[in-house]
Amino acid sequence: MIRRNAHAGAQAWPRRRAAAFFACLERTCPHPVTELNYQTPFQLLAAVLLSAQSTDREVNRATAELFQVAPTPASLLALGTDRVEAHLRRLGLFRVKTRHLLESSRLLLERFDGRIPSSREDLQELPGIGRKSANVILNALYGASTIAVDTHVFRVANRTGLAPGPTPHAVEKALLRIVPERYLTRAHHWLVLHGRYVCRARSPDCPTCVVSHLCFFPDKTPGDRKPPSRGAIRSG
Ligand code: SF4
Repeated sequence: MIRRNAHAGAQAWPRRRAAAFFACLERTCPHPVTELNYQTPFQLLAAVLLSAQSTDREVNRATAELFQVAPTPASLLALGTDRVEAHLRRLGLFRVKTRHLLESSRLLLERFDGRIPSSREDLQELPGIGRKSANVILNALYGASTIAVDTHVFRVANRTGLAPGPTPHAVEKALLRIVPERYLTRAHHWLVLHGRYVCRARSPDCPTCVVSHLCFFPDKTPGDRKPPSRGAIRSG
């Protein structure tokens, strides 16, 4: 869930401070990658579409079987609604997601010869693909300097004071203003991973946080707790 934060309305950090923040995250994980599993551009789009209000782990469990039997838009359409729903049944909103996935597959075949478009406008015409999903796809497939603001990015940007904003779009615009060019294509991944494993919603691990010295969060957790495992963070 996207929550408002006490920092909303405050100024984003200066670029130099933002550069120091991302330099710390880069040292920890130089080549961050998405935790969604996919083999092809279409499978990335499908996984991103399915990830709304589901964890990457849940999506990966569902797509592991689905992509075995239907790895392309055409094979998904051939599978049909009932069988696609059966694969996605454990995901929230699985009926809506099935409908969006099948309709997006049909449009990709009709308008783009089965390929994934490289423009935001074309992507956002696909059912189930909004601004955040388009940013993820443009970044992962085309190396675009986009920053998708999900619940983790929104929380970290507001909690630290890095790029405060009342809405995901406001945070995205603030981040795009202050993140130095060299970090732009990786910034989304770092913020997601940092929010998922360290700066967690309920129990941020401030004692082991590599950007603690920069963070403005007034309620940092004390240093008497067991350090978390960082092993789950994937780096490509
Ligand atoms: S110090 Fe704590 S609140 Fe600040 S970024 Fe690190 S984990 Fe999050």
